[in-house]
Amino acid sequence: MFKFKSFRSRLTVTFLLTILLVMLFVGFFLDQLLERYYINSLQDNLIRSGKLAGEFVAGHLQEEVDPVRLSWLAENFGRLSNARVIFVDRKGLVIGDSVRVGGLLGQLLDREEVAAAFVGEAGISIQYSELSKQRVMQVALPIQEEGGEPVGAIFLSASLQEIDRIMADIRRFLLLTTLLAAGVTGIGAIFLARYFTGPLELLTEAAGSMAEGNLEQRIEVKSVDEIGRLADRFNLMAAKLNFYTKNLQNFVANVAHELRTPLTSLSLLIKSLNDYEMEPEQQQEFLNDLDREMDRLITLVRDLLELTTLEGGEAHREQIALEELVRDLLKQVAPRFERQDIRLLSDLPTGTVPVFGSQFQLRQVLHNLLDNSLKHTSPGGWVKVSLRVEEEIAEMKIEDTGCGIPEKDLPFIFERFFRIDRARSREMGGTGLGLAIVKETIEAHGGKVWAESKEGEGSAFYFTLPLVQENVNIN
Ligand code: ADP
Repeated sequence: MFKFKSFRSRLTVTFLLTILLVMLFVGFFLDQLLERYYINSLQDNLIRSGKLAGEFVAGHLQEEVDPVRLSWLAENFGRLSNARVIFVDRKGLVIGDSVRVGGLLGQLLDREEVAAAFVGEAGISIQYSELSKQRVMQVALPIQEEGGEPVGAIFLSASLQEIDRIMADIRRFLLLTTLLAAGVTGIGAIFLARYFTGPLELLTEAAGSMAEGNLEQRIEVKSVDEIGRLADRFNLMAAKLNFYTKNLQNFVANVAHELRTPLTSLSLLIKSLNDYEMEPEQQQEFLNDLDREMDRLITLVRDLLELTTLEGGEAHREQIALEELVRDLLKQVAPRFERQDIRLLSDLPTGTVPVFGSQFQLRQVLHNLLDNSLKHTSPGGWVKVSLRVEEEIAEMKIEDTGCGIPEKDLPFIFERFFRIDRARSREMGGTGLGLAIVKETIEAHGGKVWAESKEGEGSAFYFTLPLVQENVNIN
């Protein structure tokens, strides 16, 4: 019935064995205690009755012994103490016996208890009587005048049948209670074990189902104990796994979609070049288009690789002077801004702003942000890069007087492949991954990124990076 492989049966059997052991232990001691109590009280009773009878007959033994009278006295004392009473003289001869017919009158009572009584002690024993087929207690006491030598002895013999019967009743009762307690705790233990292991089984089932691909799996456990907390964690883990898997599926679908467009264009262009006779100028135009689509593909693959590297966290990191990196990059991109008649302004501290990270990735972040500002700002506008230091962080701001971002789109712009105007973005060579790369890079560097914008007025992109604490030297 019990499979010891399961936690439930192990728990049930442990409960059961514990309760059985405790009950047996308690039962054994109770049994011993009660038996001793009953035997002691019978013994006290016999000694008290014996002493009383002894004192009573002591005077008679000085005079001439009258066996009939002594037997009559023995009978009466015997009735009072519920025992057989025998009087013996100094030689050990029976001079009075409560058993009149078939008694021991006139015979020698050669017993150890009597011998003990003759030296002034109480002789006590418990024996099994073959004759009456029961246990008996025998007590012999000296009969003596106050302070004198023993002149005889009184011998009392009482049956332990009543005590044995009570003890048998008590043992039966203890056995029954033990069985009842074992039964009740057994059933209780089964329910308790079910209460404990039920949620664990649910968890096992849910985990198995998840392993088979059912990521929507959740378990309902109402308890607030350790098992409840385990279930909560499991649900949280399942939800996260589901979220990441869906994200990954989305990402793969998006990548496929993004790749399909340039690949379709490429395929069409190549087919056209192959299938139709063209003028050299027209051919050149097709080749230019081919080149542009190839560039797009390369950019997309580069951005995708960039994101994968971010996830893998493989980049080489070192201490970087952030203001220097910005200055360097601004110098590099300035001609492009100039060409589009956009003023490139900066507000950088003269001291060092040390941060820890990947030079290449942080350059990429700034490049993406500046590139976006450039793409979305019209000639005559400006773009400003500011860097400031606040306590333990460096805060970078890239603002522009560009077209701005609609309020409803602002919360989504850092998502992978999100673009406000898909066609326009593609036209400008965007992949929809630029800001996702910015966000993931900055977060991987322990910073935060956010944007503020007003449609038609401009945008401001912010990011922070933790400063390297030693040698901060800001003017
Ligand atoms: P893309 O490759 O399309 O530029 P990004 O992830 O860099 O993708 O940007 C997401 C979208 O956010 C862009 O499609 C663009 O519409 C908008 N955006 C980003 N930067 C700016 C900016 N400085 N001004 C206005 N819109 C911007």
